[in-house]
Amino acid sequence: MYYEDGVPVTIGQGIVTPNERSLILAKLASRSIETTFRRADGAVAHRGKRGVTSLLGDLLRCATCGGRTAVSGNPNHKSYRCGNSARGKGCPGFTAPVKGANDAVAFAFLSKLAALDPGDELLEAVADAWVARVNPETLSARAAALADLEAARADIARVRRLVAAGTFDEEDAADVMPRMRAAVKAAEERLAAIPEPTADVSPLLDMVQSVEAWDMLELGEQRELLALAIKEVRVSPAKGRGYRFDPASRLTIVWADGTTAAPVG
Ligand SMILES: [Zn+2]
Repeated sequence: MYYEDGVPVTIGQGIVTPNERSLILAKLASRSIETTFRRADGAVAHRGKRGVTSLLGDLLRCATCGGRTAVSGNPNHKSYRCGNSARGKGCPGFTAPVKGANDAVAFAFLSKLAALDPGDELLEAVADAWVARVNPETLSARAAALADLEAARADIARVRRLVAAGTFDEEDAADVMPRMRAAVKAAEERLAAIPEPTADVSPLLDMVQSVEAWDMLELGEQRELLALAIKEVRVSPAKGRGYRFDPASRLTIVWADGTTAAPVG
């Protein structure tokens, strides 16, 4: 990753700006911090690592009432349900098997990535999260060194402007420039000394490999990655009792860019 005169930073195969990088890093860093929020019914609920119980809990919406979902059932056969229906609030609701829905959405997510061209914004965001996951300390050290380098270069630019404006004469500039150039050089050396993080993002582009890589991730990490690409997943009711769960007719994925798709059944 290099940053010269405003040219975006390349990392792995993606190109992201430092600002996007810091957003992604902050997002990744915050995932282990438990946050508290107040639910609509006034109860205080805890979100965070301990609260992570289902892959799609934050993404699923009841297609009938728009409500969030609850998980019920025994450990071997858990189901997502309409939360309003579960609390007796009038929605006819839906139930969908947790495993079937998880697998269908994960597969749709990975298929989507595999179909993207290098350079696609979504692919870059996910690739960067992938890299950050492999080596977050190195990435933040490089980000800090990069900020120092930019600050040192900005100092030189400021002196040049002062000279151009006539506030500084050439002699003033000659006094301070050597020290400022040395500061830039030192910052460049510090940045060069921190190894560029590398992560192989090719698994993301290969379905067979990415399914394996996906299965290795923790639930919280899977949720973070899905959230980069998916706004919500709407679940409609089954046609009736006894029908096998059919993701293609029951689920609608709303991608981050606003387009929708049904997962392949
Ligand atoms: Zn509902």
